[in-house]
Amino acid sequence: MPELPEVEATARVLDGAIAGERIAYAKVPGINALRSFEPPIESLVGKRVAGVRRRGKHLIVELEGGLALLIHLMSAGRLQLYDKPAGPRDRTSRMLLGLDSGRELRLREFGSKQAAWVKLVPVGALEDEDPLASLGPEAWPEPPPLGELLDAPRPLHALLRDQHVIAGIGRSWVDEILWRSQLSPYKRGADLDEQELARLQEQIPQTLDGAVDHYESVLSLPIPDKLPMPLIIHRHEGEPCPRCASTLKSVHFEDYVIAYCPTCQTEGRVLKDRRLSRLLR
Ligand SMILES: [Zn+2]
Repeated sequence: MPELPEVEATARVLDGAIAGERIAYAKVPGINALRSFEPPIESLVGKRVAGVRRRGKHLIVELEGGLALLIHLMSAGRLQLYDKPAGPRDRTSRMLLGLDSGRELRLREFGSKQAAWVKLVPVGALEDEDPLASLGPEAWPEPPPLGELLDAPRPLHALLRDQHVIAGIGRSWVDEILWRSQLSPYKRGADLDEQELARLQEQIPQTLDGAVDHYESVLSLPIPDKLPMPLIIHRHEGEPCPRCASTLKSVHFEDYVIAYCPTCQTEGRVLKDRRLSRLLR
């Protein structure tokens, strides 16, 4: 489930590995993986990689000559570098970029769903390109003042995951951030008092900082299929809270499963299910 820290780490590792290399070939075997028409993907051939960076949960591979690949890994994608081209039985690659060193950069996706995508766009038009055009400010390294940003009658769990509000946080890291900030996932953004806002303002960058540092120390090439996510709350329901030792609980919210500590976050209250399917009935 790549979110800001995972995508940031991927961008750093790849930037160090492929910047300066020339593209020897470009193939897009994934159905619907390429979401742009002009310029054609073949126009990458012969271009050098200028660098790899991140915006929100997107990867951007910039090429000399003014082109950029905008990539969204969605929930099950990886951008990985291999020493050799993929064989004929490769079923996971959505895009393959051959490099002049003989190595191959692959956008791979696990599971049956094909959701990861790529757009090839002029660098100058990148910020006008959807979904970057409507992306909120970066959650890391320093989010802007949150008071105005979160001043909405929506639950924090939904607000913080909304990429239009703040970019980079998803279903895993939101649980860690809310637990560290000692805030209920159902608390409405508009109801946060000054102290609560201050805690969130501090914990968003600290939590993500910790994660980026973690990957910096453990991640190297080849980027593994499964990233070792250092989560202590998300998917840890049933285990003791690392702060107070109460049992961590989980609750269904829309399409998500939230983990939280009733003692640290909800004044002992157990949250009720707010499943989308239940609301639609
Ligand atoms: Zn606790």
